[in-house]
Amino acid sequence: MYGEILLSEPLVVLQTDNVLETCKGLLANKQVLLVTSNSFSKAGWPRTLQEQTGIDICAVVDNIQPNPQRKDLESLHQRLKGESVECVLALGGGSVLDSAKVLSRMLTEQSLSENWLAPECLWEGPPIPVIAIPTTAGTGSEVTPFATVWDSQEQKKYSLGQVRPTTAIFAPSLTLSLNREQTLYPALDALSHALESLWNRHRSELSESRALKAIALICDALPKTLAQPHNIEARTALQQAAMWAGLAISETKTAIAHAISYPLTLSYAMPHGLACSFTLKAILAEQQACFNVPTQYVDKIKALLDKLQLSVEVERFVSPSKLLAEFNTDLDPTRAANYAGDISHQALKRILERSLYTSKRC
Ligand SMILES: [Zn+2]
Repeated sequence: MYGEILLSEPLVVLQTDNVLETCKGLLANKQVLLVTSNSFSKAGWPRTLQEQTGIDICAVVDNIQPNPQRKDLESLHQRLKGESVECVLALGGGSVLDSAKVLSRMLTEQSLSENWLAPECLWEGPPIPVIAIPTTAGTGSEVTPFATVWDSQEQKKYSLGQVRPTTAIFAPSLTLSLNREQTLYPALDALSHALESLWNRHRSELSESRALKAIALICDALPKTLAQPHNIEARTALQQAAMWAGLAISETKTAIAHAISYPLTLSYAMPHGLACSFTLKAILAEQQACFNVPTQYVDKIKALLDKLQLSVEVERFVSPSKLLAEFNTDLDPTRAANYAGDISHQALKRILERSLYTSKRC
């Protein structure tokens, strides 16, 4: 159902109705580090995995917080570096998957250099293989080679590269119990990934086709899922969309909407999926001519975002006046420079104002 996936590193993508059986087949006779969320741990997944599959789980990490912090990952490295981990099994949302990917890299070293998050940091060998089972639909972390690490104290965000999972397992039934926010924000992240890869200097025919697949799926399946949370077809479509969008940004990386988002997540704890999506419609309106987004897709996206009224969601984290007063329009160039258009400081202010005050006018 996923067709051929062309990547520079091998990635196996599976879909299953029986996670336990699939894990059993992949992880027999391996020492496994399980990284999962507190809720899956409380629901008994570590024990179930061990008892029903016979997997040798040598350690469990189940205290991952949203937006994984550098200091917490360094503490986990201290705790786990003595274990002989042969495979990391990640079962959770984007933060769990990112943490597992980072740990798969960290645990290849007994001691970390001070600059372990810097792009120039040299690692001795490849990361430990990661099997990623997403329990949300949106971040695409299960297929991307990046993982985001945050340092809230220092107000910094890092992106660790070359940590793509070896296997992504989609089990849409695991997403059936997600609430509205847990459904909406990751799906918006996927929509942002798709658009960011389209208006990107590094776009290719392949990344464009993947991004457009993602947009079509999200515009159809997100309203259905919000209206009928137990609609398994719609949930399946959202996971597929997240995968296609994740593969698109694997090639292009993200761009301006993500550059805008990072300070908002650092300063106001705004969830990533909201922070990187509430400006999408205004960005589309600002410079539509230079975007490689077909009109029929633009119309669908605008209709979806109009309905969602994201400015109201943003106000739960920060008032529009405070955000506008405090926002530094010197964006993180590592992402903003990928944007194919040319956004001035004034245009950026206009985008923020439109996104915060006039969500219907753009
Ligand atoms: Zn994102």
